[in-house]
Amino acid sequence: RTVYVNGEYLPEHEAKVSIFDRAFLMADGVYEVTSVLDGKLIDFGGHMARLDRSLSELDIRKPGCFDDLLEIHRELVRVNGIDEGLVYLQITRGSPGDRDFVFPDPETTEPTVVLFTQNKPGLAQSPAVKTGLKIVSIPDVRWGRRDIKTVQLLYPSMGKMMAKAAGADDAWMVMDGFVTEGTSNNAYFIKGNKIVTRALSHDILHGITRAAVLRFAAEAQMEVEERDFTVAEAQDADEAFITSASAFVMPVVEIDGVALGGGVPGPRAARLREIYLDESRKAAV
Ligand code: PMP
Repeated sequence: RTVYVNGEYLPEHEAKVSIFDRAFLMADGVYEVTSVLDGKLIDFGGHMARLDRSLSELDIRKPGCFDDLLEIHRELVRVNGIDEGLVYLQITRGSPGDRDFVFPDPETTEPTVVLFTQNKPGLAQSPAVKTGLKIVSIPDVRWGRRDIKTVQLLYPSMGKMMAKAAGADDAWMVMDGFVTEGTSNNAYFIKGNKIVTRALSHDILHGITRAAVLRFAAEAQMEVEERDFTVAEAQDADEAFITSASAFVMPVVEIDGVALGGGVPGPRAARLREIYLDESRKAAV
């Protein structure tokens, strides 16, 4: 695989970042994951707008290559022959010469930029679309700025392990009695013709796929209600689903052992997935 590190395209085994990098020592970095379908980037503009916001919220300077990111994504997709897959992008506060809690001087410390591709043939035809996901709920013990897409992913990773240990596919996190989001996705249920999902705030990541799916809801003759909801309310729903750049729209068929819609994926989440994939393929760059 050819990867990109700080201005250079290199074979992955030659790519290097300092041991003093702020992301390595302090999770001081942000990332984006953009999916690739038919060799093209899905929702690219949305991902770059969120990246820009994550950087500015953390006062990380934009790297010199910021305006070339589309070109860099495209080049990696091309040289690695990706038809379906993902492009991972990470920008960190950089690698000062030592470990220090104080931010390094942005005049002298360049942000670190790393991009690599992940080849995922069949990404849009995942078997989970037919079976649906089993979800367990876990407490949300993450920090209070989940709207910033930092590389601080230990708890979400532990959450995924807790789900696997419980025989489920993923976890929804719960704070003060209400669902925040999935470990790496936004969470929804459908009751009647209404899609319910938590409103945007510092409590959840502002999903790029979430924004698109809510925009397309009208096309599926559905209404959207952005508000807090409990696990019990979702268990009582007709359908449930999650969204993310890598899973698109994925049905949920079980929450904490309670089956929804007879335990099989429902038609409305399927319709939303179809519209999302159609529309975003059309708009892909
Ligand atoms: N919430 C969390 C916590 C996530 O990690 C992700 C995926 N990175 C999402 C939601 C979904 O966001 P997007 O649709 O932009 O991939």
